[in-house]
Amino acid sequence: MQRKEFIKLSGLGLLSLPFHSFGLIGSSNEAIADVAIVGAGLSGLTAARELAKAGKKVIILEALDRVGGRTWSQPISQDAFIDVGGQWIGTGHDSMYKLAAEAGISTFPTYASGMDLWQQKGKVKAYRGDTPPMGLFALLSANSNMNRFDRLATSIDPTQPWGAEQAVFMDKLSLGEWIDQHVHNAKARMLIKRVAEGELCFSTYEVSLLQALSSARATGSLKQAESVTDGALKDRLQGGAQAISNYLYQQLKSSVKLNCPVTVVEQTQEGVKLGNPSFAITASKVIITAPLPTVKNIQFTPALPAEKRILIDNMKMGTVLKCHAVYEEPFWRKEGLSGNSFSLDEVVELTVDNSCPQSPFGILASLIHADRAEYLLGLTPEDRKQKILAAYATRFGSRARNPLYFHDYSFTTNAWIGGAYTGFFAAGIYSQFGPFLQKPTGNIHWAGTETSVHYKGFMEGAVRSGYRVAEEILMLDS
Ligand SMILES: Cc1cc2nc3c(=O)[nH]c(=O)nc-3n(C[C@H](O)[C@H](O)[C@H](O)COP(=O)(O)OP(=O)(O)OC[C@H]3O[C@@H](n4cnc5c(N)ncnc54)[C@H](O)[C@@H]3O)c2cc1C
Repeated sequence: MQRKEFIKLSGLGLLSLPFHSFGLIGSSNEAIADVAIVGAGLSGLTAARELAKAGKKVIILEALDRVGGRTWSQPISQDAFIDVGGQWIGTGHDSMYKLAAEAGISTFPTYASGMDLWQQKGKVKAYRGDTPPMGLFALLSANSNMNRFDRLATSIDPTQPWGAEQAVFMDKLSLGEWIDQHVHNAKARMLIKRVAEGELCFSTYEVSLLQALSSARATGSLKQAESVTDGALKDRLQGGAQAISNYLYQQLKSSVKLNCPVTVVEQTQEGVKLGNPSFAITASKVIITAPLPTVKNIQFTPALPAEKRILIDNMKMGTVLKCHAVYEEPFWRKEGLSGNSFSLDEVVELTVDNSCPQSPFGILASLIHADRAEYLLGLTPEDRKQKILAAYATRFGSRARNPLYFHDYSFTTNAWIGGAYTGFFAAGIYSQFGPFLQKPTGNIHWAGTETSVHYKGFMEGAVRSGYRVAEEILMLDS
């Protein structure tokens, strides 16, 4: 069933995602602000609110027809929703929990009761606890090498990873090469690569060891990033993660201009003029929260300094495909299954139970990363759906083949975001140019989860970057 039909049945409206073309700045419709913000994701909205609280006139320009950026929650019935983008918050995500509490948005624990499934070479095995049935030696090797990686990550100073001993060497060595050098058990190697690719959304050969360590350090550890009980996957937000952005939007509504891509930024003696052919703003300061690779959509006068351009030109966003299959009920629970599954060698690498507590529907979701996502995105939507549902059926039985509704989306197809969860630099760039990530360019300031010291790549990192950039601007006044 198509979402349109599904939503018609459940009595809700439809959301859409338009795209825009670029052009030169216009002057027919102009506004003036103290601070103009490019992007109404979590970073842009939180920065705007802090600045508005301090008495600044703020205007946010957002290319899409909605706020939330990489968080995008779609209601599918009165009491069920799917999170097309970010969804989990967990240990250490204090700003997100605080915002949720302030907004009156409750959280609920990630469903994790029952047995998980392990699939390899076509065989599916159910197991309980944290020990997948992959063989003792593989397990021991995977565990000790993940600990080795996490120990190495603790040697990194999250505020300046590029200052680490051997930073340049570690930035030229890929994580994949490091794994090949240290992990001697073949199955353990496969497992660690899959787990890491699930975090990075890149092949481990495309991300430098330094950046992988820095990301793990910024999150706590690789193990913590993967943990439901005491890590990043602990809780979900009632109504979906976009509810936080919608809450901030309600407070800032008159200052947010949707469907308003910024294609030109001109720094002049008077300040900064930015906008597109039909709308322009003159502001004293500008904050850019667009994911760095999409900053290429903007023409700057004068040109950005070389260091910034190198960062922009050498960052690539990850590739992740997120899909949801909605069923009448979570039928797998009756068989004692959690809905969690993991495969070392299938394209559909994992499933989770993404059902909503108040709804009778059962929802199985998958996050498919890197090469696997690229492969699936190359198929027709129907072939992709059939392939994913066939994998579900292998794990959860024939009922899984026929959901009431199926949805999949990848932010790789969105020109203003470019991919997810975050971006990584080509080898050697981070160690050399990392210090310029947050550095303002005249009156242009930089935010977004990619610029965060802690929890970069996460919603928490986006919010913290919003607070940091607001403080950075307010400090200049004091
Ligand atoms: C599938 C998926 C799953 C995820 N899972 C999790 C998770 O479980 N937990 C978690 O913490 N995080 C998760 N994340 C990551 C999280 O969603 C992001 O880190 C966070 O939302 C980024 O916020 P941001 O404000 O930095 O950037 P964005 O949300 O990308 O906001 C930037 C905004 O700028 C706009 N923009 C770009 N260019 C222009 C322009 N030229 N003019 C005007 N506007 C522009 C974009 O449209 C966008 O709205 C996930 C992301 C995805 C996609």
